[in-house]
Amino acid sequence: MKSQSTSRVEKRYIKSYTSNEAEEEPPGERGLCGNLEEEPPGKKATNRHRFFGDIPDATWNDWKWQFQNRITSVERLAQFIPLSPEEQAQLRLVSMRYPFAVTPYYLSLINPDDPDDPVRKQAIPSILEITMGAMGTDDPLGEEKDSVSPGLVHRYRDRVLMVLTDICPMLCRHCTRKREWRNGGWVRSPSEVEAMLDYIRKNRAIRDVIISGGDPLTLSTRRLEDIISSIRKIKHVEIIRIGSRFPVVLPQRIDNDLCTMLAKYGPIWFNTHFNHVREVTSEAAEACDRLVRSGVPVNNQSVLLRGVNDSVEAQKRLCHGLLRIKVRPYYLFQCDEVRGTEHLRTPVEVGIKIVEGMRGHTSGLAVPTFVIDLPQGGGKVPLQPNYVLAQTEDELVLRNYQGRIFHYRNPGKPTCHQSPAEALSPIGDTVGIHDGVEFKFELEGARNADRAIIRS
Ligand code: SF4
Repeated sequence: MKSQSTSRVEKRYIKSYTSNEAEEEPPGERGLCGNLEEEPPGKKATNRHRFFGDIPDATWNDWKWQFQNRITSVERLAQFIPLSPEEQAQLRLVSMRYPFAVTPYYLSLINPDDPDDPVRKQAIPSILEITMGAMGTDDPLGEEKDSVSPGLVHRYRDRVLMVLTDICPMLCRHCTRKREWRNGGWVRSPSEVEAMLDYIRKNRAIRDVIISGGDPLTLSTRRLEDIISSIRKIKHVEIIRIGSRFPVVLPQRIDNDLCTMLAKYGPIWFNTHFNHVREVTSEAAEACDRLVRSGVPVNNQSVLLRGVNDSVEAQKRLCHGLLRIKVRPYYLFQCDEVRGTEHLRTPVEVGIKIVEGMRGHTSGLAVPTFVIDLPQGGGKVPLQPNYVLAQTEDELVLRNYQGRIFHYRNPGKPTCHQSPAEALSPIGDTVGIHDGVEFKFELEGARNADRAIIRS
């Protein structure tokens, strides 16, 4: 088993590595999102000492303390963030329908003096959640209709989704499962989980089990181990995936106990949800590092959000920050059509333009796939700029990331094999030498496409 502990040297490395972002940023490119200028990313949670100066390190790093001390009332929030009486009244009104909960750690990432702060927009309710509430639906993905037993969604033949709880450390304002909040916090009972496992045992086509929520890491490590070990005993299940936002909103949860447990039941893949580079702190880096060292690859599924990450520059900074902490940018989701999130949704063109501005301008590893999760369970559809300008059976006309046009020969169907000498025929100008004779060659079957030159 690999070591899950992070040495002091490694911690220094993580900190210095995550704090290079500010130096790397080219001058004149700040502020495209309107909020990028004030905080160099990769620092320790920015306002911890301003907000929670009296909390000792041991307490601060105790994830249970963080969870129990979440900020859930307007009165408490107003102790940290300046709120006018009108804002407080609006918050009370919104939170009657859509409650809020923010961990002290995540709260400390917010710039309290900026009402448009991109971290704040994800955590603190907006009155627009109800004033624009006529738009969208509660369950746009039709998850409930695909439930085969309470908490188990079976939409694709070889994959199932186990929703173990609706409890999350933070209630993200753009959450697709916002409809669940009004039901209060619930956790699936042992008999419900057993029913899910039974279904998976009986369906031999299922090779991939996704554990999600809410956030499944709100369960104790021991309870999680019960469930994960039971899944692992099912022979036809090849991989387990965990969807969790803990590395972003409460990274202290990713402790050695959890990682030691996960390391026993691989292959386990971990999908998390960073949306802004300011979330890529040294605490988050340490959490992801622990997972990766336990043999658990970490991918990121971000959601495109108005005023949070809806520019090329904001996405580039996020994805570069993620790669530095060994997290692969995987998906960039168009924000689902969920009631109460319309103010955060962007036109689809914004996502396509972001991909256009990244593809070719940074390494492919840094470019997530932009997808729409179709309503009513239609599945994910990837969208990207159109690079194919024309296409025939023999040729494609393509544009590259710089807008330059290229002709690309489309290989025909394979024909009978010939020796290289048979396949060559002299056709004019001398451009090569074959068997002591200078030739210009054309490959058989390529008459309508690019010319191939073979040098002997
Ligand atoms: S962590 Fe995920 S499930 Fe939980 S509130 Fe945020 S978006 Fe929703």
